[in-house]
Amino acid sequence: MTAASNTRSFSGVTRLAPSPTGALHLGNVRTFLVNWAMARSRGWKVVLRIEDLDGPRVKTGAVEDLIDTLGWLGMDWDEGPLVQSDDLSPYVGAMSRLARAGLAFPSNLTRGEIEAAASAPQEGAFNETRFPPELRPAGLGPREFDEPESGWRFVTPPGEVRFEDEFRGPCGADPSGSVGDFVVWTKRGQPSYQLAVVVDDARQGVTNVVRGDDLLDSAARQTLLYRALGIERVPVWCHLPLVVGEDGRRLAKRHGDTRAAFYRGLGVPAERLVALMARWSGIGPRAESMTAGEFAGRFDLASMSRERVVFTAEQDRWLRQRA
Ligand code: GLU
Repeated sequence: MTAASNTRSFSGVTRLAPSPTGALHLGNVRTFLVNWAMARSRGWKVVLRIEDLDGPRVKTGAVEDLIDTLGWLGMDWDEGPLVQSDDLSPYVGAMSRLARAGLAFPSNLTRGEIEAAASAPQEGAFNETRFPPELRPAGLGPREFDEPESGWRFVTPPGEVRFEDEFRGPCGADPSGSVGDFVVWTKRGQPSYQLAVVVDDARQGVTNVVRGDDLLDSAARQTLLYRALGIERVPVWCHLPLVVGEDGRRLAKRHGDTRAAFYRGLGVPAERLVALMARWSGIGPRAESMTAGEFAGRFDLASMSRERVVFTAEQDRWLRQRA
């Protein structure tokens, strides 16, 4: 970060928000590069935010590795790294607000208990067990956020939540039907991802969120939290199609080592990885090599395919050629 970037005026604010639960794989790289390219071509400020509240899954050294990999790929940022675990007070403040509005309640029911107690047990979407309204404690009302050692859930209102997505157009989802009263504060005494992301995007002035469409349903939950917290300015969302393996499943360990750092270790230049990202992002003609800056200069969201991106064995071989 330079002094000049602090005084520059920006037309918006976005964030790169990696979770240090593992190293960046090619799917993450695509999303970060597109996000960064949109920011640099449109004059947004880039905040680097480390989302490290997922306690047990956070890996030592992962933050340093992430920062190193982003830099190697040619990305930079204007503020940060801001680390979520450094200060929990903004999240505690948001919880007080929800609790005082009667919109959150403590609950330590386990998944098994919820399933056993629900009158019509139902597997919610996204591998989450739906927490139905009938399991809310009796006499729910305004209270203090007085049990921070307990888990807390949000009182999800019924009905579809509509929101706009820059890439996908008008979207809608019904969190009351898919996940019900979702967790906003965990039993580990920390905000959940859903709460932390809303609090941070709001206080960091984020105007544009660019991320994978596995988080599309989260956008509905987050919209509800913005409303409940009385935050009027909701960011413009932009959810990108996921990167999958040839089996159609989301890129993961099962597809072998697809970490950017793995290819780097083989001697593959960053510009070749960026060239593959260009191929995946509708930038033609096919290039053998491209810098992040060139990618930013040529990227156009309108040319990006709506289909999922498939990382093929042929592309893996092409990356490794004469590495
Ligand atoms: N930290 C989240 C992730 O790595 C990103 C969350 C977001 O962009 O809202 O999946």
